[in-house]
Amino acid sequence: MSTRSGIGYDSHRLAAGRRLVLGGVEIEGAELGLEGHSDADVLTHAVVDALLGAAGLGDIGQHFPDTDKRYRDADSADLLSEVCSFLEDHAWTIVHIDATVVCERPTLGPYRDRMRTCLAATAGLRPLEVNVKFTTGEGMGFVGRGEGIGALAVATVERAQ
Ligand code: MG
Repeated sequence: MSTRSGIGYDSHRLAAGRRLVLGGVEIEGAELGLEGHSDADVLTHAVVDALLGAAGLGDIGQHFPDTDKRYRDADSADLLSEVCSFLEDHAWTIVHIDATVVCERPTLGPYRDRMRTCLAATAGLRPLEVNVKFTTGEGMGFVGRGEGIGALAVATVERAQ
């Protein structure tokens, strides 16, 4: 069995008049949302990049260019689903995903289980095989100033040699 891990990182700017979607879950009543070509779900994007990295299959920008009109306001859960199928085509099985969202506000803890469940369902995993953590910027940097949200993820995949 060949086992590999990959990392993913993403960040998006916060803006008025946008929905805040993280891990496929809409954060209700958020004053600001994330700006981007798709729904700007920074957590799902980091997970997609971690999966592609683990499988050695490039990055999210190669597969879903932001110059492509098909991905305008795209639901990132659909992109994740497409990438999971792509990995399956290459005989990779996803074993585990771990992620951290770096966000000053709002408080995301109440959404943790929904994000895990949603990401797991999309990736064909059990919720216990997906971990989502939260931290803040402690007032420092673009996160601390409330300019944006960042996310990091690590994915582990395996396949027969
Ligand atoms: Mg992104």
